[in-house]
Amino acid sequence: MTESSYTMKPEFISERVRNLRASGIRRFFELISNMDGVISLGVGEPDFVTPESFTKAAFDAVAQGETHYTSNYGIPALREAIADHLERLYGVRYDPRNEILITIGVSEGLMLALLAILNPGDELLSPDPYYVAYRPACQIAGGTFVPVATGMETEFRVSAPDLEAHLTDRSKAILLGYPSNPTGAQMTREGLTEIADLAARHDLLVISDEIYDRLSYGLPHTCFPSLPGMRERTVLLGGFSKAYAMTGWRVGWACAPADLLEAMMKIHQYIIMSAPTPSQYAALEAIRNGEDEVQRMIAEFDSRRRLIVAALNEMGLTCFDPHGAFYAFPSVRSTGLDDIEFAERLLLEEKVAVIPGSAFGDCGRGHVRACYAAPKPVLEDALERIRRFVGSL
Ligand code: PLP
Repeated sequence: MTESSYTMKPEFISERVRNLRASGIRRFFELISNMDGVISLGVGEPDFVTPESFTKAAFDAVAQGETHYTSNYGIPALREAIADHLERLYGVRYDPRNEILITIGVSEGLMLALLAILNPGDELLSPDPYYVAYRPACQIAGGTFVPVATGMETEFRVSAPDLEAHLTDRSKAILLGYPSNPTGAQMTREGLTEIADLAARHDLLVISDEIYDRLSYGLPHTCFPSLPGMRERTVLLGGFSKAYAMTGWRVGWACAPADLLEAMMKIHQYIIMSAPTPSQYAALEAIRNGEDEVQRMIAEFDSRRRLIVAALNEMGLTCFDPHGAFYAFPSVRSTGLDDIEFAERLLLEEKVAVIPGSAFGDCGRGHVRACYAAPKPVLEDALERIRRFVGSL
């Protein structure tokens, strides 16, 4: 990046933005971009290219003139397909007319939900470690982010009593993200039922980011609003990025009771208008006819997951069995290095990129996040390099 010779007084930038911390991940990616031959287990996205039939559906739609804005809510056929999909998988039914909004990924859905819910100073509880966007999105919306500690002893599952211990009279909502980025943790149905009970007793809203719902291995995914009494107090966020290998298309969904969805829509219509039209057609093909592709990718992720978890444990980097997403989150404490030193030295000495766990909150300290969405031979090479690095310490 070239340095600008023009300086601007800091006050030109809003306090809201000045107070945001720079992402720990970004600094790391800047380091990587200046190096050759790096194996990256850093980026959290599928290595698979979007299946051809999804891409073709977008091209066909464009060829047929689908190049205009759509309804602010998104194309009706896609909303209907998402409603059917959620009902089929989880038994929870949303009205495609006014309870489903097509967003530019979960990223937008998250921001809309927080802007629609939080008043200045309202508290949002979320398990720590947390996805990098959660805290800044809460701050941008004017809320106060309240991290709730989790640890490897409980496989990074948050407990209802721990959430309850952080409640105050400003607590407004709980933000859950399971399966979890960065830990790969998945909640049990029992654990979520206890949180549902807590939300009902204390009249809290829940935002459930279920972008990794399909990537759940050996533990059935429970969709939070499918739990008794939760549909009326939950914003469900989901999308196409991960399970359908569609990160670059930028399509997701937000589902909520009509009043709350309408509040989110009010913001969406002014800042977005509608999600990209060709992408919505690709998504429609994906959700209607893409199940075989999804199953193929899930099976491959699961097999890589077993490979990396076994190898990390074998070299003394203790790693619990992550039941979801595509991340391993081993402890690096046995090496005597902290997570930042470990990640920086591994990058410089063996050219393998992993992300220091502290980029995801205080409870990530002492761990690193390794994304296993990479082809097996690449993973094997990376693991060999990590083994050599750990052996050299
Ligand atoms: N939520 C979590 C937990 C994620 O890991 C990500 C992407 O990494 C997102 C949301 C953003 O997803 P999208 O591509 O749908 O905006």
